[in-house]
Amino acid sequence: MNDTVIHMLAHKTCPKAAPCNALRRYQRILAAVVLLASNHSTANEWSSVTGPSHVSPQVVGQTTAGCIMGAEALPIDGDGYRVVHLDRKRYFGHPNLIRTLKDLGRQVGKLGIGMLHIGDMSQARGGPMPSGHRSHQNGLDVDIRFNFDPRAFVNADSLRANISAPSMLNLARDNLDRKLWGQRQITVLEKAAQLPGVERVFVNPHIKKDLCLRVGYNRSWLRKIRPWYGHDDHFHMRIACPAGNSHCVSQEPVPAGDGCDASLDWWLEQPMPSSRPQPGPEPVLPPECSVALKQR
Ligand SMILES: [Zn+2]
Repeated sequence: MNDTVIHMLAHKTCPKAAPCNALRRYQRILAAVVLLASNHSTANEWSSVTGPSHVSPQVVGQTTAGCIMGAEALPIDGDGYRVVHLDRKRYFGHPNLIRTLKDLGRQVGKLGIGMLHIGDMSQARGGPMPSGHRSHQNGLDVDIRFNFDPRAFVNADSLRANISAPSMLNLARDNLDRKLWGQRQITVLEKAAQLPGVERVFVNPHIKKDLCLRVGYNRSWLRKIRPWYGHDDHFHMRIACPAGNSHCVSQEPVPAGDGCDASLDWWLEQPMPSSRPQPGPEPVLPPECSVALKQR
């Protein structure tokens, strides 16, 4: 690329006497390169594939830019849990996630806490979703609501799309609603954070603060409870990259300590929107994901 073209690309103008068709030619080449890098896939393509591929499970990329081969569907009814919003078809994940969820459901059932309402996991092949999330792309994430009431299903429609998820925050959104929030939620978070393979559990900063104040002698699990935007009507559980999945990109390890420190104060001092501010453009998926999308 010569200096004239570099100037034209930088300034999007043609310097005097420079042939403008050279600029247009380079712009066309750049556009083609960007298109190739994005593997030509769109969120709608990923959401329209209704079944997993029939290969051994393989997590590809990261939770915010990835996909999954050979995912497993979570049965929609299980011991201590039920899946909601069947219309979204987002109840797929790596077998490790399915096993972890069944384990948590069994514990919740045995303790008489109620029933887990399982929200979004990943799409059948993972990948970006047309709405709702940036993460949940590679079969390692799940949303679980804080409402454990089994009666919520009594008047559910056939796709369980009309079950409400009450916020645990008060109306001013500056503290918890003590009529809804209590020991049952704390116990479920403790059980979730202590499950083998669980790396992080995201909750609203006010929820983390409550745990910091109320949890007694065994506080080691608090380290995995991470404050994040939203997450006042559900928590988000993320498991680690499965062993041997060389295309899975791990997150940074959780910092040492229980997280009841200045990092939490930072969250509580921010004017907190109910969801994460609009992130930047969709990151490019790893090339293996174009294979995952087309596999049989
Ligand atoms: Zn989530």
